[in-house]
Amino acid sequence: MYETLNHYIDGKWVEPTGAKSQDVMNPAKDTALGKLGHASKGDLDKAIAAAEKGFQVWRKTSAYDRSKILRKAADLVRERADAIANVLTLEQGKVLAEAKAEVLSGADVIDWFAEEGKRAYGRIIPARADGVRNMVILEPVGVVAGFAPWNFPVTQAVRKIAASLAAGCSIILKCPEETPGSPIGLVRCFHDAGVPAGVLNLVYGVPAEISEYLIPHPSIRKISFTGSVPVGKHLNALAASHMKRATMELGGHAPVLVFDDVDSEHVAKMMGAMKYRNAGQVCISPTRFFVHDKVYDSFVSKFTDIAKGTRVGDGLDPTSRMGPLANPRRVDAIQAFVTDAQEKGAKVQAGGKRIGNQGNFFEPTVLTDVPKSARIMTEEPFGPVAVMLRFNDTDEMLGRANSLPFGLASYAFTKNSKTAAKVADALESGMVTINHFGLALPETPFGGVKDSGFGHEGGAEGLTVYMQSKFVSQLG
Ligand code: NAD
Repeated sequence: MYETLNHYIDGKWVEPTGAKSQDVMNPAKDTALGKLGHASKGDLDKAIAAAEKGFQVWRKTSAYDRSKILRKAADLVRERADAIANVLTLEQGKVLAEAKAEVLSGADVIDWFAEEGKRAYGRIIPARADGVRNMVILEPVGVVAGFAPWNFPVTQAVRKIAASLAAGCSIILKCPEETPGSPIGLVRCFHDAGVPAGVLNLVYGVPAEISEYLIPHPSIRKISFTGSVPVGKHLNALAASHMKRATMELGGHAPVLVFDDVDSEHVAKMMGAMKYRNAGQVCISPTRFFVHDKVYDSFVSKFTDIAKGTRVGDGLDPTSRMGPLANPRRVDAIQAFVTDAQEKGAKVQAGGKRIGNQGNFFEPTVLTDVPKSARIMTEEPFGPVAVMLRFNDTDEMLGRANSLPFGLASYAFTKNSKTAAKVADALESGMVTINHFGLALPETPFGGVKDSGFGHEGGAEGLTVYMQSKFVSQLG
């Protein structure tokens, strides 16, 4: 069963009044699942007015009471996980087990922020005079405009909703037009849990038209965007010109450093499974594999076996391990990366081609002998392609790993604690995980440096980006 595609404004499910609409497609079958209407400026004005009103109610609701409502929403997400996951797979393509894990982890995100909201303590600063109290009070920033992408329609939406609501903000969220149904199922859980009207609003439309209307609007105090680097730079410039706070969670091109003291086949097995999760459409997807010369051949051979053995098919088929890419643009983009690399001398060890002519299926791909001039060496592939690179000299390799403008996630595998400490210090990256996959938990900060953006979406940092400090000094 697919979703009824309405917008959510001022506590009501409404049909949008914009002139445009679009089909929502099943990426495994190329068939339309439903029609999504776009918001008009009038709809956005209603959402803004509702969010302003909602903010006045919600900021005065105690953190304790906000937490109770949020935890109820988390329980509802768990109860409805199967249904929401089914919709997610239908519209986005990922295999059902991944969709279900995404929805359930969304419930954990809500629970965590529900608790963290109660710990927005502020602080007391010792005063210079008797009877003076110097206080720093953390206040919610106000109405948030959030923009979430299609690769994790539930995760990307829930991080913005849970953190902003836990901080006491209200939010207007524009979710991805290509995958609107699962965010609707998610938002319904907040509605049914008792979030007051106007506190949470969900709209869809032409992304640029919505962002260019909402970001400059005087009622909006904070922008949170997840998506590509070029769009992030554009929206951040717009936010800056209107003096709006922003969180930018942008792309990456994650290096994986595999040293010669590890069980390279074990690491290849682990990273092979990670690489093809969500068909590689993950901002922290491992992409550039720097493998020590001594273990390169065994690593590449095992990784190639994993790629070749990854069964690709409809995400609803329980035997599939990788679904289709989320939209036809990604198939064209990945094919162009592979063709460009091949033309410049790269070897395709596995995959490299689209599968069939129905649905956006692409083979899990492994490239070796990729020259520096290939586009995939500098541009984020955002798809099921792994690039294998040899190294001998650690310092030289770290220079290559750090040479791109991206700085989101990095991975390293070594048994040597000195090497581990050295790479953790040297990697120009917002997140480094060593000897396992330890990223993206509700309680840990998630965010990048350099062109990958700024601000965080998890951990204590993920709450404070929705808060501002007020200094109050009181005598008597
Ligand atoms: P895109 O750059 O057109 O869009 C990326 C996202 O930004 C989409 O969700 C889109 O709806 C939104 N967007 C685009 N223009 C916007 C605007 N003016 N205002 C507000 N939102 C806007 O690319 P795409 O083809 O949809 O996705 C591919 C690229 O996006 C990938 O190369 C990847 O780098 C990036 N991406 C990153 C993430 C992430 O988790 N950081 C998620 C999805 C996509």
